[in-house]
Amino acid sequence: MEDVFDEIYTIINISDVLEYQFCSRFIYFMHCLNIPQHEEKRFKVLKGREVHQNRQLTNKDYVRKKLHCVQKDSEVYLVSKTHHIKGIVDEVLFLDDGTAAPLEYKFAEYKEKLFSTHKYQLVMQAILIKDNYGKEVNKGYICYTRSNNLVKELEIKTCDFNKAFEIIEDILEIIEKGKYPKATKSANKCIDCCYRNICV
Ligand code: SF4
Repeated sequence: MEDVFDEIYTIINISDVLEYQFCSRFIYFMHCLNIPQHEEKRFKVLKGREVHQNRQLTNKDYVRKKLHCVQKDSEVYLVSKTHHIKGIVDEVLFLDDGTAAPLEYKFAEYKEKLFSTHKYQLVMQAILIKDNYGKEVNKGYICYTRSNNLVKELEIKTCDFNKAFEIIEDILEIIEKGKYPKATKSANKCIDCCYRNICV
């Protein structure tokens, strides 16, 4: 059902946004030429599953108490036709001020800054929550499971939503029109990139 839906209406995955942020050419190689990446990333997928399995034990009611959360939905698959995006939200938190917020678990330590990829993952999830639940979303949370479940809050502003819409439009242009994007400006990323042999 999902595949049929995607065929008639391009819906990108939140994970595509993360790939795009690393290098926009990834989208071209993956979606226009259908060349998948190597399997090394499977490690992260497996670790992600581990987190999903463990967190119910380690975080039971933790978030609810700490973040003024009155209710939550876990592991929700959401689609927005309006904004051409889909993805799984680890937890949709309904807060006591009437707003909602995404919470994402990371199998990682907190390194004194919020990565851009993590930020836009939350912003994309916020779009999905707004469109599916009709709730205002102005913040999101990341729980770093390797830093003793430290939870960091991110304020999500209008300019963040606008930037996210620009990213989605750019990705759609690559997929739908076959636009070949410019190479990343960070040459370091090319050194061990799985596409370096075909990327000219
Ligand atoms: S080799 Fe460099 S420019 Fe090409 S896809 Fe990889 S990171 Fe991007």
